[in-house]
Amino acid sequence: MSTSIDLPIDVAIIGGGIAGSGLATVLARAGFGVTMIERSPAFRDRIRGESIHPWGVREMDATGLLDVAVKRADARILPFWTKYQDREAGEPYRWSDDFPDTIGELSVQHPRLQDTLLAEARDAGAKVHRPANVLGISWPDGRPEVGVAIGDTVTTLRPRLLVGADGVHSLTRKALGGEGVTDVPHHAIGGAMLRGFDLPDDSAHQALFDDGFAMVFPQMCGTSRAYYVCPNLEAETLRLSDQPQGLMARLQAVLPDGTASNIESVGPIGFFPNSETLASVVHGPHSVLIGDAAGSNDPSQGHGLSLVFRDIRDLTDRLRETCDWSMVPQAFADARARDHGVLRAHAQWVAPLVVGAGLEIERLREQVARAREQDPSAGGFAGIFATGPESLVADESARQLFHGEDL
Ligand SMILES: Cc1cc2nc3c(=O)[nH]c(=O)nc-3n(C[C@H](O)[C@H](O)[C@H](O)COP(=O)(O)OP(=O)(O)OC[C@H]3O[C@@H](n4cnc5c(N)ncnc54)[C@H](O)[C@@H]3O)c2cc1C
Repeated sequence: MSTSIDLPIDVAIIGGGIAGSGLATVLARAGFGVTMIERSPAFRDRIRGESIHPWGVREMDATGLLDVAVKRADARILPFWTKYQDREAGEPYRWSDDFPDTIGELSVQHPRLQDTLLAEARDAGAKVHRPANVLGISWPDGRPEVGVAIGDTVTTLRPRLLVGADGVHSLTRKALGGEGVTDVPHHAIGGAMLRGFDLPDDSAHQALFDDGFAMVFPQMCGTSRAYYVCPNLEAETLRLSDQPQGLMARLQAVLPDGTASNIESVGPIGFFPNSETLASVVHGPHSVLIGDAAGSNDPSQGHGLSLVFRDIRDLTDRLRETCDWSMVPQAFADARARDHGVLRAHAQWVAPLVVGAGLEIERLREQVARAREQDPSAGGFAGIFATGPESLVADESARQLFHGEDL
């Protein structure tokens, strides 16, 4: 085995998923020297985020990555959102009617976007090592140093800034002395890749039922990503069968008659806990975490990729603003924690309304319905999927207003 030291680089990124590859692309395009390490030899469908909310689409656009997703990863813009109650479709809601600066949701196959962005990072001039294993991360003299095994060679990276984009079980976070702290899951989310829905393909579809909801996001070539949000117990039963039929039968039961009669499974199926994971540490000396490594959002709320693109935009802006990067990690981490905190609070306020049961919850739902009649914006939180968290404050008085406790 030989050893080498990489030439001085500006930014080393550990993890080449959507967060890592997206950041590598944007920074390399801006002229920074970027090296990225991705351990997996190939991306596969792990049932992850495939629908990006309008505020995340705006963040994507600001980074220049929306164009890449649409043109090279066949991402589809869904200008409408249609809700179904008791298997009846409501009026399709067009995002741009209320939020003129939004174009809608973006629906894209996750591994396809990963592949596209990784290739884009290479094209933009980033050095991508894949597959490569991180052997160790240390901070001699307060500067990050990363040992990486690339084939038979051990390379040492000494970047000006180290970015951990290595997902919810981040090794970089661990090396910084941090951990992921996961909230108790209040319900579960299942996902499957299906073909054969007879539903308009310019809309996201959300079917509501007593203790959960199902969502269908049309994608390329007649396929759709379907998610099913339900109590943990039901998820356990559906999971045990390890077959798509149980999940498909539930979708057929909650969507309008005939719209899901011919669906077939064309990918893996899986169930996951619905809860937030907070990172106890998001920055360190000349080091910072982004994407799920910096804390992940309750998947049923679907803000994960929007946060990813927010992180890419925010970190890039800060690095371009100043030549002295020493204060950037802390400033980024503070703003990130604030925004994630707002999304987490909102997810917790919504959870009992979606999957709760019993008299008390019924009373809360009625109270919330009355509150919406008085203030349809819910203090701004009703528009969180379009506006994002930045302009919102999730304090106790906002929660009381959201739950109608001030009436
Ligand atoms: C069931 C489910 C449904 C979801 N639905 C949505 C949705 O509808 N909309 C939405 O916006 N979000 C959704 N999300 C969240 C979204 O998928 C994540 O927020 C997003 O994928 C995070 O991307 P990332 O790049 O930060 O992390 P990851 O996708 O985890 O990428 C991390 C990368 O780092 C690499 N890596 C890890 N460790 C190392 C190492 N030591 N060395 C080198 N490389 C390493 C991995 O191989 C991987 O490629 C969902 C999540 C789940 C679980």
